[in-house]
Amino acid sequence: MTDFEGLKALVTGGASGIGRATAELLAERGAQVAVLDLDPSCVEKPLLGFRADVTDDTSVRAAVAGAAEALGGLDVLVNNAGIGAQGTVEDNDDDEWRRVFDVNVLGMVRTARAALPHLRRSAHAAIVNTCSIAATAGLPQRALYSATKGAVHSLTLAMAADHIREGVRVNCVNPGTADTPWIGRLLDRASDPAAERAALEARQPAGRLVSAAEVAGAIAYLASPLSGATTGTSLAVDGGMQGL
Ligand code: NAD
Repeated sequence: MTDFEGLKALVTGGASGIGRATAELLAERGAQVAVLDLDPSCVEKPLLGFRADVTDDTSVRAAVAGAAEALGGLDVLVNNAGIGAQGTVEDNDDDEWRRVFDVNVLGMVRTARAALPHLRRSAHAAIVNTCSIAATAGLPQRALYSATKGAVHSLTLAMAADHIREGVRVNCVNPGTADTPWIGRLLDRASDPAAERAALEARQPAGRLVSAAEVAGAIAYLASPLSGATTGTSLAVDGGMQGL
Protein backbone atom coordinates (compact mmCIF):
# COMPACT_ATOMS: atom_id res chain seq x y z
CA MET A 1 0.00 0.00 0.00
CA THR A 2 1.41 3.38 -0.92
CA ASP A 3 -1.32 5.69 0.37
CA PHE A 4 0.88 6.86 3.23
CA GLU A 5 4.10 7.23 1.22
CA GLY A 6 5.45 10.73 1.73
CA LEU A 7 2.80 11.79 4.28
CA LYS A 8 4.13 13.69 7.27
CA ALA A 9 2.20 12.96 10.44
CA LEU A 10 2.19 14.14 14.05
CA VAL A 11 0.55 11.89 16.66
CA THR A 12 -0.18 13.27 20.14
CA GLY A 13 -0.14 10.79 23.00
CA GLY A 14 1.95 8.68 20.65
CA ALA A 15 4.15 7.07 23.31
CA SER A 16 1.51 4.57 24.46
CA GLY A 17 -1.60 2.62 23.50
CA ILE A 18 -3.67 3.81 20.55
CA GLY A 19 -1.31 6.67 19.72
CA ARG A 20 1.73 4.46 19.66
CA ALA A 21 0.01 1.81 17.52
CA THR A 22 -1.06 4.58 15.12
CA ALA A 23 2.41 6.11 14.88
CA GLU A 24 3.92 2.68 14.21
CA LEU A 25 1.30 1.75 11.60
CA LEU A 26 1.67 5.03 9.70
CA ALA A 27 5.47 4.65 9.72
CA GLU A 28 5.28 1.01 8.58
CA ARG A 29 3.14 2.13 5.64
CA GLY A 30 5.63 4.77 4.53
CA ALA A 31 4.69 7.96 6.40
CA GLN A 32 7.23 10.09 8.23
CA VAL A 33 5.96 10.28 11.79
CA ALA A 34 6.60 12.46 14.84
CA VAL A 35 5.17 11.78 18.28
CA LEU A 36 4.20 14.43 20.84
CA ASP A 37 3.93 13.15 24.40
CA LEU A 38 4.66 13.99 28.03
CA ASP A 39 7.48 11.46 27.90
CA PRO A 40 8.43 10.31 24.40
CA SER A 41 11.68 8.67 25.60
CA CYS A 42 10.37 5.16 24.73
CA VAL A 43 9.74 6.16 21.12
CA GLU A 44 12.20 4.52 18.76
CA LYS A 45 13.43 5.34 15.27
CA PRO A 46 12.13 5.97 12.66
CA LEU A 47 9.61 7.82 14.88
CA LEU A 48 10.71 11.25 16.11
CA GLY A 49 9.80 12.11 19.70
CA PHE A 50 8.83 15.59 20.91
CA ARG A 51 8.19 16.26 24.59
CA ALA A 52 5.18 18.47 25.29
CA ASP A 53 2.19 18.76 27.62
CA VAL A 54 -1.01 19.45 25.69
CA THR A 55 -2.18 21.64 28.60
CA ASP A 56 0.78 23.98 28.01
CA ASP A 57 0.32 26.08 24.88
CA THR A 58 3.98 27.12 24.72
CA SER A 59 5.24 23.54 24.77
CA VAL A 60 2.61 22.49 22.20
CA ARG A 61 3.63 25.28 19.82
CA ALA A 62 7.31 24.40 20.21
CA ALA A 63 6.70 20.67 19.61
CA VAL A 64 4.45 21.23 16.56
CA ALA A 65 6.95 23.69 15.06
CA GLY A 66 9.80 21.26 15.79
CA ALA A 67 7.94 18.36 14.19
CA ALA A 68 7.00 20.39 11.09
CA GLU A 69 10.59 21.53 10.69
CA ALA A 70 12.06 18.05 11.18
CA LEU A 71 9.57 16.41 8.79
CA GLY A 72 9.54 19.27 6.25
CA GLY A 73 5.85 20.07 6.78
CA LEU A 74 2.72 18.42 8.17
CA ASP A 75 -0.08 16.60 6.34
CA VAL A 76 -1.70 14.78 9.25
CA LEU A 77 -2.45 15.60 12.88
CA VAL A 78 -3.68 12.72 15.03
CA ASN A 79 -5.13 14.39 18.12
CA ASN A 80 -5.09 11.47 20.49
CA ALA A 81 -3.63 12.43 23.90
CA GLY A 82 -6.26 11.98 26.57
CA ILE A 83 -6.89 10.94 30.17
CA GLY A 84 -9.73 9.15 31.94
CA ALA A 85 -12.06 10.12 34.75
CA GLN A 86 -14.54 8.01 36.68
CA GLY A 87 -17.63 8.85 38.65
CA THR A 88 -20.90 10.75 38.59
CA VAL A 89 -21.23 14.56 38.69
CA GLU A 90 -21.09 14.30 42.50
CA ASP A 91 -17.71 12.57 42.51
CA ASN A 92 -15.49 15.14 40.75
CA ASP A 93 -15.05 18.74 41.89
CA ASP A 94 -14.67 21.80 39.65
CA ASP A 95 -10.88 21.55 39.63
CA GLU A 96 -11.04 17.97 38.36
CA TRP A 97 -13.54 18.98 35.65
CA ARG A 98 -11.22 21.77 34.55
CA ARG A 99 -8.17 19.47 34.62
CA VAL A 100 -9.71 16.74 32.43
CA PHE A 101 -11.28 19.24 30.00
CA ASP A 102 -7.90 20.97 29.77
CA VAL A 103 -6.26 17.74 28.53
CA ASN A 104 -9.04 16.07 26.53
CA VAL A 105 -10.63 19.10 24.84
CA LEU A 106 -8.37 22.14 25.05
CA GLY A 107 -5.38 19.88 24.38
CA MET A 108 -6.85 19.08 20.96
CA VAL A 109 -7.69 22.73 20.34
CA ARG A 110 -4.12 23.80 21.12
CA THR A 111 -2.48 21.22 18.85
CA ALA A 112 -4.94 21.96 16.02
CA ARG A 113 -4.30 25.71 16.35
CA ALA A 114 -0.56 25.15 16.14
CA ALA A 115 -0.79 22.62 13.29
CA LEU A 116 -3.36 24.31 11.00
CA PRO A 117 -0.94 26.80 9.39
CA HIS A 118 1.20 23.79 8.33
CA LEU A 119 -1.77 21.62 7.31
CA ARG A 120 -3.19 24.34 5.02
CA ARG A 121 -0.04 24.01 2.87
CA SER A 122 -0.61 20.26 2.36
CA ALA A 123 -2.42 18.71 -0.62
CA HIS A 124 -3.65 15.86 1.66
CA ALA A 125 -4.37 17.54 4.99
CA ALA A 126 -6.26 15.60 7.65
CA ILE A 127 -6.93 15.85 11.36
CA VAL A 128 -8.17 12.76 13.19
CA ASN A 129 -9.40 13.21 16.76
CA THR A 130 -9.58 10.23 19.12
CA CYS A 131 -13.07 10.52 20.56
CA SER A 132 -14.89 7.61 22.28
CA ILE A 133 -18.21 5.78 22.27
CA ALA A 134 -18.60 7.60 25.61
CA ALA A 135 -19.45 10.73 23.57
CA THR A 136 -22.92 9.41 22.79
CA ALA A 137 -23.42 6.12 24.70
CA GLY A 138 -24.55 7.45 28.09
CA LEU A 139 -22.13 5.27 30.07
CA PRO A 140 -22.63 5.08 33.86
CA GLN A 141 -19.89 6.43 36.14
CA ARG A 142 -18.30 8.41 33.31
CA ALA A 143 -20.00 11.85 33.53
CA LEU A 144 -16.86 13.97 33.23
CA TYR A 145 -15.05 11.75 30.72
CA SER A 146 -18.19 11.45 28.54
CA ALA A 147 -18.67 15.24 28.59
CA THR A 148 -15.12 15.77 27.34
CA LYS A 149 -15.63 13.28 24.52
CA GLY A 150 -19.02 14.82 23.66
CA ALA A 151 -17.13 18.08 23.26
CA VAL A 152 -14.54 16.37 21.04
CA HIS A 153 -17.38 15.06 18.87
CA SER A 154 -18.91 18.55 18.47
CA LEU A 155 -15.47 20.06 17.93
CA THR A 156 -14.83 17.57 15.12
CA LEU A 157 -18.06 18.56 13.33
CA ALA A 158 -17.42 22.29 13.75
CA MET A 159 -13.79 22.05 12.62
CA ALA A 160 -14.79 19.95 9.61
CA ALA A 161 -17.16 22.75 8.53
CA ASP A 162 -14.61 25.48 9.20
CA HIS A 163 -11.64 23.96 7.40
CA ILE A 164 -12.86 21.87 4.44
CA ARG A 165 -12.68 24.88 2.13
CA GLU A 166 -9.03 25.21 3.10
CA GLY A 167 -8.48 21.57 2.11
CA VAL A 168 -8.26 20.24 5.68
CA ARG A 169 -10.49 17.26 6.53
CA VAL A 170 -11.43 16.64 10.19
CA ASN A 171 -12.84 13.33 11.43
CA CYS A 172 -12.86 11.31 14.63
CA VAL A 173 -12.72 7.69 15.70
CA ASN A 174 -14.90 6.36 18.51
CA PRO A 175 -13.17 3.40 20.16
CA GLY A 176 -15.02 1.09 22.51
CA THR A 177 -13.00 -0.49 25.32
CA ALA A 178 -9.54 -0.78 23.80
CA ASP A 179 -6.80 -2.98 25.20
CA THR A 180 -4.14 -0.38 26.03
CA PRO A 181 -1.97 0.41 29.08
CA TRP A 182 -4.82 2.73 30.20
CA ILE A 183 -7.22 -0.21 30.57
CA GLY A 184 -4.40 -2.25 32.09
CA ARG A 185 -4.01 0.40 34.82
CA LEU A 186 -7.77 0.32 35.52
CA LEU A 187 -7.80 -3.49 35.75
CA ASP A 188 -4.75 -3.51 38.03
CA ARG A 189 -6.76 -1.57 40.62
CA ALA A 190 -9.30 -4.42 40.92
CA SER A 191 -8.90 -7.02 43.67
CA ASP A 192 -8.75 -9.75 40.99
CA PRO A 193 -7.52 -8.18 37.71
CA ALA A 194 -7.86 -11.43 35.70
CA ALA A 195 -11.48 -11.92 36.79
CA GLU A 196 -12.21 -8.25 36.12
CA ARG A 197 -10.73 -8.56 32.62
CA ALA A 198 -12.82 -11.68 31.91
CA ALA A 199 -15.97 -9.85 33.08
CA LEU A 200 -15.10 -6.84 30.92
CA GLU A 201 -14.56 -9.05 27.88
CA ALA A 202 -17.84 -10.88 28.52
CA ARG A 203 -19.67 -7.52 28.42
CA GLN A 204 -18.37 -6.82 24.89
CA PRO A 205 -20.66 -7.96 22.04
CA ALA A 206 -17.58 -9.29 20.24
CA GLY A 207 -16.50 -11.17 23.39
CA ARG A 208 -13.15 -9.39 23.46
CA LEU A 209 -11.66 -5.92 23.78
CA VAL A 210 -10.81 -3.83 20.74
CA SER A 211 -7.06 -3.84 20.01
CA ALA A 212 -4.99 -0.67 19.76
CA ALA A 213 -3.99 -1.82 16.26
CA GLU A 214 -7.64 -1.94 15.18
CA VAL A 215 -8.20 1.64 16.32
CA ALA A 216 -4.94 2.62 14.60
CA GLY A 217 -6.26 1.09 11.35
CA ALA A 218 -9.35 3.30 11.47
CA ILE A 219 -7.27 6.40 12.27
CA ALA A 220 -4.88 5.58 9.42
CA TYR A 221 -7.79 5.29 7.00
CA LEU A 222 -9.19 8.68 8.02
CA ALA A 223 -5.69 10.19 7.87
CA SER A 224 -4.94 8.97 4.35
CA PRO A 225 -6.08 10.02 0.87
CA LEU A 226 -8.11 6.76 0.86
CA SER A 227 -10.78 8.76 2.74
CA GLY A 228 -10.18 11.92 0.67
CA ALA A 229 -13.89 12.88 0.42
CA THR A 230 -14.74 12.14 4.06
CA THR A 231 -14.96 14.91 6.64
CA GLY A 232 -17.00 15.52 9.80
CA THR A 233 -17.61 11.83 10.39
CA SER A 234 -17.10 9.60 13.43
CA LEU A 235 -16.00 6.03 12.84
CA ALA A 236 -16.91 3.55 15.58
CA VAL A 237 -14.27 0.93 16.43
CA ASP A 238 -16.12 -0.75 19.24
CA GLY A 239 -16.75 -4.41 18.49
CA GLY A 240 -20.49 -3.75 18.19
CA MET A 241 -21.04 -1.80 21.44
CA GLN A 242 -22.71 1.06 19.58
CA GLY A 243 -25.52 -1.25 18.52
CA LEU A 244 -26.50 -2.14 22.09
P1 NAD B 1 -2.75 5.52 27.11
O1 NAD B 1 -2.79 5.98 28.54
O2 NAD B 1 -2.20 4.17 26.79
O3 NAD B 1 -2.02 6.60 26.21
C1 NAD B 1 -2.30 7.98 26.35
C2 NAD B 1 -1.05 8.77 25.98
O4 NAD B 1 -1.38 10.17 26.09
C3 NAD B 1 0.14 8.50 26.94
O5 NAD B 1 1.33 8.27 26.21
C4 NAD B 1 0.22 9.79 27.75
O6 NAD B 1 1.54 10.11 28.19
C5 NAD B 1 -0.31 10.82 26.76
N1 NAD B 1 -0.79 12.02 27.45
C6 NAD B 1 -1.66 12.06 28.49
N2 NAD B 1 -1.79 13.33 28.91
C7 NAD B 1 -0.99 14.09 28.13
C8 NAD B 1 -0.67 15.48 28.09
N3 NAD B 1 -1.19 16.34 28.99
N4 NAD B 1 0.18 15.92 27.14
C9 NAD B 1 0.75 15.06 26.26
N5 NAD B 1 0.50 13.73 26.25
C10 NAD B 1 -0.36 13.26 27.18
O7 NAD B 1 -4.28 5.62 26.62
P2 NAD B 1 -5.06 5.06 25.32
O8 NAD B 1 -6.01 4.05 25.80
O9 NAD B 1 -4.11 4.75 24.22
O10 NAD B 1 -5.92 6.37 24.98
C11 NAD B 1 -5.62 7.22 23.88
C12 NAD B 1 -6.88 7.98 23.51
O11 NAD B 1 -7.92 7.04 23.22
C13 NAD B 1 -7.43 8.90 24.59
O12 NAD B 1 -7.87 10.11 24.00
C14 NAD B 1 -8.63 8.13 25.15
O13 NAD B 1 -9.63 8.98 25.65
C15 NAD B 1 -9.10 7.43 23.88
N6 NAD B 1 -9.91 6.24 24.15
C16 NAD B 1 -9.39 5.15 24.78
C17 NAD B 1 -10.19 4.04 25.00
C18 NAD B 1 -9.69 2.80 25.70
O14 NAD B 1 -10.53 1.95 26.06
N7 NAD B 1 -8.38 2.63 25.88
C19 NAD B 1 -11.54 4.04 24.57
C20 NAD B 1 -12.03 5.17 23.93
C21 NAD B 1 -11.21 6.27 23.71
